[in-house]
Amino acid sequence: MMALKAYAVLEKDEYTGDIYFAPRAIVAAKAGANEYGDGELSYIQCRRAPWADAFAGKGVPAKVAVDHGWHFECHGCGIQIDSDLEEEHRLPVEGIVGTMHGAVYCCARCKWKYMKREARRKQEEAAAIEDFKAIVRARFPDADFADDESEFRGHHVYVTRADRSDFWHRGQVIVAFRFPGMKIGPAHFRLESYHRIGPAIAGYTCCNGDREAFEAYAGATRARQ
Ligand SMILES: [Zn+2]
Repeated sequence: MMALKAYAVLEKDEYTGDIYFAPRAIVAAKAGANEYGDGELSYIQCRRAPWADAFAGKGVPAKVAVDHGWHFECHGCGIQIDSDLEEEHRLPVEGIVGTMHGAVYCCARCKWKYMKREARRKQEEAAAIEDFKAIVRARFPDADFADDESEFRGHHVYVTRADRSDFWHRGQVIVAFRFPGMKIGPAHFRLESYHRIGPAIAGYTCCNGDREAFEAYAGATRARQ
């Protein structure tokens, strides 16, 4: 097998791009053009990057790439990560975490804080789903929650944390449940409150083709209450 060599492929407009490993320049150029240049070779430049050869199959450490002029946005705090990191943020280039292609962090502490925040977000999302299931259960006591559905048809939650506070705003909460006579997909109880001003909108929705079945189900459960 021919050894893979590293090529830096950049689109010429904003100079965003990546390192590609390929046996020949044209292979790297085509891959880069597909991703960054609408498939047009004329939109990109492709140059050998021998400094990255050693990372074929492993991923290029972002801190090494920074030493060679690349820059990234921190996945945790959003600051620009480049060779001025030390001067502008008092963070050593050596401390940059992550590889090109993946999430890059300005330092290990920032990554740790990000992971902690994400774990907390997951907890908040799970709590929101439980709260909303309770609301649905009060109206439809035997609701069959669609916990196994994809994010597009099943439960979906969007929460944001208010700046520097412990308060999480529920921007969108959707819980999905099946009902007798359902043919197309689960019904949803959804809350949308993207804007913090004005009342949140909450209500039940179902797929168009299931409307009659859902209304019959709603009528029957109401009669029982
Ligand atoms: Zn950061």
